[in-house]
Amino acid sequence: MPASNFNDRFQHHLSRESRARGNGPFQMLDRLKCNGDIDLISFSGGIPLPSKFPIRKLSVSFPELGCFQEDEHNKYPKEVDVSFDMRNDANTNGLDFEGALQYGQCQGIPELVKFIKKHVELAHSPPYKEWDIKLTNGNTIGLEYCVRLLVDYGESILIEKYTYPAAITAMAPLGVKFISIDMDENGMIPQSLEEVLKKWDYSKGPMPRILYTIPTGQNPTGSTLSIDRKKKIMALARKYDIIIIEDEPYYFLQMDACNATTSEAQIELQDAAENSAILSSFVNRLVPSFLNLDTEGRVLRIDSFSKLIAPGSRLGWITGNPLFIDRITRAAEVSTESPSGISQIVLFGILNHWKQEGFFLWLRELQHTYTNRRNALLQSADKYLPKSICSYRAPKAGLFLWIELDKSRYLFDDQNKPVSEIELDIFQALLQKGVKPVCGQLFMPYPEKNDRIFFRFAYSVAPIDKFEVGMKRFASTLKEFFRLNE
Ligand code: PLP
Repeated sequence: MPASNFNDRFQHHLSRESRARGNGPFQMLDRLKCNGDIDLISFSGGIPLPSKFPIRKLSVSFPELGCFQEDEHNKYPKEVDVSFDMRNDANTNGLDFEGALQYGQCQGIPELVKFIKKHVELAHSPPYKEWDIKLTNGNTIGLEYCVRLLVDYGESILIEKYTYPAAITAMAPLGVKFISIDMDENGMIPQSLEEVLKKWDYSKGPMPRILYTIPTGQNPTGSTLSIDRKKKIMALARKYDIIIIEDEPYYFLQMDACNATTSEAQIELQDAAENSAILSSFVNRLVPSFLNLDTEGRVLRIDSFSKLIAPGSRLGWITGNPLFIDRITRAAEVSTESPSGISQIVLFGILNHWKQEGFFLWLRELQHTYTNRRNALLQSADKYLPKSICSYRAPKAGLFLWIELDKSRYLFDDQNKPVSEIELDIFQALLQKGVKPVCGQLFMPYPEKNDRIFFRFAYSVAPIDKFEVGMKRFASTLKEFFRLNE
């Protein structure tokens, strides 16, 4: 489809701000070309002299492919060093080192862009060919780009009933009205979305045209949307002309079944490394993304290396149709520009060495690590938490266990006490006992309307041998609070 068709189809979705955004001033001059034979001496850009970049060499050490490990000690059987040397053209590992440290790479350094595009193709096979990417400094700014691209002041935005607090805080200053869609343990319920759209009350303003969702390992509920639900939601998006923003930092942390053993996982990893079957076996196990279902370019997918490599890399990318990616790039040209060249060089060093298969193998190792952690937390929860008041489901992806407390079992001294205050009282008591989850009310755009009590427990970073004592402390606090004899 020519780029102009995306303009025709999606131009009306651009925010006023994005429509008003012109090209960067230098692009007008860059379009004018000189005679190809001429030896052009450029006095144009105010770019600094590369020989005065004091960074001469960058090296990165990381685990060698196939030498990953299951346990959590910071030792790997074999590590590899990759370096990029400004002083030696032969030692730059196929990277334009100077270019990576220079201005002018807003999309991202070409070598990394190429790697990530191939990765997107392998992982999602987007069904239209003009899709493009823009490297970002992670999903927080990725979402901010999407919001500035699409949202006008005072609009209504569709979100999951419980959602990522930074998304709420990013959109709230735009006067956004959040329209919460009901969820269950399998994520957003398509019928609830349909109800909202079908019965839209125009006195509330125009029909929403943006759906923000965290389909996999949802933050905070840990739920994962099935392919069946995604297809239904995609069909509704087409019918009601909705743009889907899929925020997917946990997409690749889709886990094994609760009863899968570590030794099975180790054998599988070994096999996959030896016979290069990892590509197909890895991708086939993932729930397909919205991007994979998007034939028209109505999905903006935001991905992050934060949970896959390190949050401090501040690297991620957005995938979408060429109109949206161009407008996002224009916004970046006057704000973040490209992500840090140094960060991109380091990441390229790792990925270029691992190659696509090795990256998937690494992601597989992460899946095993978080599967073990999820299982350990679930075991402790099952063992210690009072069943009469606690309910939770095993997450299939991500880093979070979402626990609801049965409010009806709470013997109120003050019947009129708001639920959010009770939740905070419990939180306070938990802190005194030495255990710290996150209160459910943080994940709601309008907590004052909420009447349920939740806590989110992350199993990603606490020492795994402390999970049991953490759950014991949680349980004993609840027993006191709810005056239980269990
Ligand atoms: N989006 C969601 C749903 C998240 O849970 C998080 C991190 O916790 C982020 C975005 C932030 O990602 P990044 O570190 O890439 O900015």
